[in-house]
Amino acid sequence: MPKVRCICNYVISLSEIPSSNQYLMISDVSFEKYFDVEIKAEELYNDMKIVAQCPNCGRLHVFYNGFDKDPVVYRIDN
Ligand SMILES: [Zn+2]
Repeated sequence: MPKVRCICNYVISLSEIPSSNQYLMISDVSFEKYFDVEIKAEELYNDMKIVAQCPNCGRLHVFYNGFDKDPVVYRIDN
């Protein structure tokens, strides 16, 4: 599993399963289709975006297009 180097230089490990640094995010529109069906965890997982949180500075690295593309990074603003 990949590691993510944060802008603060901390290396976020995502090797643990489950990882305490990883969150899963799904849009409301994508989640809508799960309301009337039996939910298969793997299918739901594949529709989710992986979010890596830096335990050092709190930045969120959102992989909107998979791990082979650069994440969008969000910094705490207050
Ligand atoms: Zn950081």
